[in-house]
Amino acid sequence: MMPEAVLCQAQAEMIEWQNSGMSVMEMSHRGKQFAHIAAMLEADLRELMAIPANYKVLFLQGGATAQFSFIPQNLLNGKTKACYLNTGAWSEKAIKDAGAICEVLVSASAEETKFTTIPERARWVIDAQAAYLHYTSNETIHGVEFQSTPENTGLPLVVDMSSNILSREFNVSDFGLIYAGTQKNMGPAGVTVVIVRDDLVGHASNMTPAVFNYAEQAKNQSMLNTPATYNWYLVGLVLQWLKAQGGVAVIEQRNIAKAARLYQAIDNSTLYRNPVATTCRSRMNVPFILADESLDAAFLAAAEANGLAELKGHRSVGGMRASIYNAMPDEGVTALIAFMAEFERTH
Ligand SMILES: *Cc1c(COP(=O)(O)O)cnc(C)c1O
Repeated sequence: MMPEAVLCQAQAEMIEWQNSGMSVMEMSHRGKQFAHIAAMLEADLRELMAIPANYKVLFLQGGATAQFSFIPQNLLNGKTKACYLNTGAWSEKAIKDAGAICEVLVSASAEETKFTTIPERARWVIDAQAAYLHYTSNETIHGVEFQSTPENTGLPLVVDMSSNILSREFNVSDFGLIYAGTQKNMGPAGVTVVIVRDDLVGHASNMTPAVFNYAEQAKNQSMLNTPATYNWYLVGLVLQWLKAQGGVAVIEQRNIAKAARLYQAIDNSTLYRNPVATTCRSRMNVPFILADESLDAAFLAAAEANGLAELKGHRSVGGMRASIYNAMPDEGVTALIAFMAEFERTH
């Protein structure tokens, strides 16, 4: 979901951006107007996340999925192994792609609970010889979220933050590398943010293509080739919107309240159930199943008729999923809860 205010601003500026005589999508990425948009984008992200000066901020293409392969290519630095936590569908994909590049040690897996838990920290197996430890801070499909950052792992921490970046406060200096596709919480698809500590940059394998080599892209302000200019602009508008809301700390409180209301409605019902352990429920993605699966189609059709869209769970897990990212207003959650109660009453 995009904030409506952002869509309105983009609409107003679509044909001509700030007396430039052009749309942003017509600008040269080397021109001074776009240079301004790019500089604001990075400055606003640095401000919102309090990114320390010793971190590079890159805006790349290829989605978070491309990073599954390019993280090991950039970070192995002569090592042969990386550690991964397996907490759901996105972890599994990251593990699979890394496995083609290096040896992967799965430090812990929640597969045996069908990805409804996060394995206890005391049982993680971490190899000090590994280049890094990778985890997925929010499992978008399974609705599982780490409520705190793993500590004392002894390895640079690499995190796929695609679906909870900017939804809660993180201490960037806890991480070696943060990456996120923008399409969940930062804007439209087409941009991948990589925030990487200086000492991890500059060791890419010879096989790494230049556009995915962090050192090359850092040297070129992420413009080694033509960036997704219009998408950068839209992400920039979302960041400005977030700043106007009061920043991450404010939106986090709103997200806590939104999620709590929805989980409470689910827990208090006899028709709906969320399968995730209460200690690791996601604030962003709330999956739920109906006690009677044969009602799924009727539920989705009635929801659609009530203006509640995109509630079908991911095809790999079925059921329903309410994604309540930053841009989802309180009224959206209220409308969903009211609809669910009414559907339960009539079914
Ligand atoms: C959506 C998502 C991805 C994939 O992002 P793409 O931009 O489609 O490659 C990866 N990880 C997580 C956690 C996601 O939610």
